Order: sequence, then structure tokens, then C-alpha cells
Amino acid sequence: MNFTDTHTHLYVDAFKEDIDEVMKRANDDNINRFFIPAIDSATTEAMYQLEKKFPEQIFLMMGLHPTSVKENYQEELKHIEEQLEKRQFYAIGEIGIDLYWDQTHLQEQQDAFRHQIKLAKKYKLPIIIHCRNAFDEVFEILEEEKSEDLFGIFHCFTGTYEHAQQAINYNLKLGIGGVLTFKNGKIDKFMSEIDMKHIVLETDSPYLAPTPYRGKRNESSYLIEVAKKLADIHQISLEEVARITTENANQIFGTS
Ligand SMILES: [Zn+2]
Repeated sequence: MNFTDTHTHLYVDAFKEDIDEVMKRANDDNINRFFIPAIDSATTEAMYQLEKKFPEQIFLMMGLHPTSVKENYQEELKHIEEQLEKRQFYAIGEIGIDLYWDQTHLQEQQDAFRHQIKLAKKYKLPIIIHCRNAFDEVFEILEEEKSEDLFGIFHCFTGTYEHAQQAINYNLKLGIGGVLTFKNGKIDKFMSEIDMKHIVLETDSPYLAPTPYRGKRNESSYLIEVAKKLADIHQISLEEVARITTENANQIFGTS
């Protein structure tokens, strides 16, 4: 049995002291592949260091997170293009629109999102979408950009059943994490109606720890709590959840 954490920020300071233990705990629970979303140029070096430390298990993405889209976003996009020219990445992420924290830079966020979707198409990579309080804005751009070669993951999916159908129609898998285990998370109510072929697992560590760790630092080993909940909802074994979601992840990231 092998699990894949399709979205985990293991390079951030929250793991600085105990990354070896964090990796070991995850490996002990058969979670052995970690896809690493970028935030902005300030985190690039830390991602490379993490990859160097665990080259077999770490798969890096490149992208500009919507909450890092500021006045200097053109420079940030240039940094991304330079990295993409230089070496291999497994996705463009995380990208999208976030209107929860700050709406000042909506236009810049839209522009950066569009631009990075085009980069994904150019490099034939999946996109990893971050969407917070911005379903209409994200879907508007996906509608403009939709095509055969647009595919990826709607990360930390928190929308309605209709949003889920829309995302699936744009060739996107749903990234399901801790929110599935929350009492008021809502997505557990319709998850049984979403075919397992559309689902990948993620933690979004160090954020959004699942129940019973809610409020604490999240880490990749907690993926198992999300997997158990999904097995319960779909009435299948944990082994089946591992097999299907890992297959789905491989299909998106082009790994095997
Ligand atoms: Zn993230």
C-alpha cells in the first residue's frame, strides 16, 4: 500500500527542526511520495534543499501563490520562467485566486493566473489551483483557457457538488484534505457521489490538520486520517483508496 501526498509544504520553517522525524512518520504510514507546491521566489532555495535531502520522494512544482501576487509580480513570474528553463518540475503550482485575505490585487492575481496557465500548456504540465473565496473568478479564467492540454488538480477543494462537477469538466482532479474530516467541512456530505477516479489526497501541511489534530501543525503522516474518512464514505478498503488515489496522482504528474 502506497499513499501520495499531492500537496505538502515540507520546506517551510515549521519543519525546520524535525523534518527527518516528519518524513519517517509519513513513511511508516506508507506515505512515500510528496508533491511540493511553490509559494514565491523566497521559497525556491528551501525547496531545492528539501529535494536534495530526499531525492527519491520529493517532487517539486514551480509557481506563484496568489497571496504572493503583489506589485512586483512580473519579476516573480520571470523568476518562475527562469527556473522552468533550467530544470524539471512536475506541475505549475500553486496558482489561482485568493480573495479571503486581501482583494487589493485581484487584477494582478487574474493576470498571474492566466500567465501561469499558459506556462503550464507550454511545458505540458498540470496546474495546481488554489482558490479561496474566488470560485467565480477562478472558473471565469478556466472557461477562457479550457482546452485538451489544460489539466491538473483543484487543490484543497471546499466547494459545492456543482463546483466539483465544474472542476471535473475542466479536466481537474479534486485535491481532498483535512476539510473532509471537519464537522462543518460540508464536502463530506456529497463526496460519496464523486467517483474515486476524480480524487487525489493531500495534506497542505503545515496548514489544515485533519481531525483529531485540527488546529495543530499538519504533517504528511496525517494524510492517513483523510484516507480513512474517504474509505468510510465510499465504503471501500484503505488499500483501495491508496491504490486509486496514487494512480490518479501518477496520471496527473506523469510519474509511475
Ligand atoms: Zn498550499
